[in-house]
Amino acid sequence: MELTVFRCTQCGTTLFPARYLCPHCGADQWAATPAGPGTVEETTVVRHRVGAQGAGDAHLASVRTAAGPVVVARLDQALQPGDIVTLALDDAMRVLAHPHAGA
Ligand SMILES: [Zn+2]
Repeated sequence: MELTVFRCTQCGTTLFPARYLCPHCGADQWAATPAGPGTVEETTVVRHRVGAQGAGDAHLASVRTAAGPVVVARLDQALQPGDIVTLALDDAMRVLAHPHAGA
């Protein structure tokens, strides 16, 4: 599923995840809009303790989307700040980032 962000129909502020009221103008009307490709801004590795369930390091990144908002995404491999990624939602509504083909 492609990631969508939410754009305030009054002032154009984009958000992810959605909120009830726009923090900028207080409106409550939103239009879903494709997030588009993103740029990695920061990466973090979450290290799981040995023996913990689902052991293995998780790579997380703050990604600036083309639509505007910064989202936190899971990476399937280590990426560097500045890398271009495509964003998707998995079945658990987690944001996943994949290296952008041809970037
Ligand atoms: Zn607004």
